[in-house]
Amino acid sequence: MNKKNLAEIKNFLIEKKTELLNKTNNAQRDINSDDVNVGDEIDTARQGSDKEMFFELVVVDKIILNAVNDALVKIEKNIYGTCECCGEKIPVERLKAISWTKYCIKCQEQAENHKR
Ligand SMILES: [Zn+2]
Repeated sequence: MNKKNLAEIKNFLIEKKTELLNKTNNAQRDINSDDVNVGDEIDTARQGSDKEMFFELVVVDKIILNAVNDALVKIEKNIYGTCECCGEKIPVERLKAISWTKYCIKCQEQAENHKR
């Protein structure tokens, strides 16, 4: 991967990290608050089941956040862009689309087939 692509992906990951941190912090605060007045974003009509939905969102966001952090560490270590499963280089197109991915398409598909 050339330096330009890597710099682009790194910037994207840092932006994504900031975005996810803000999002999970906000959602966490909303979940923790039992009070009806949880802020401007959620009105009383969206209470209840929405809390659970928020919680699920937070879980998914945290998984992505971890992956984003891992990807940033890998960039620092100069090992970014290699599949953790087979050791092959992950295509730049895929890294640009899902910058925090750990696996190449082949391994990802295999993992997903395995689950079924
Ligand atoms: Zn692979």
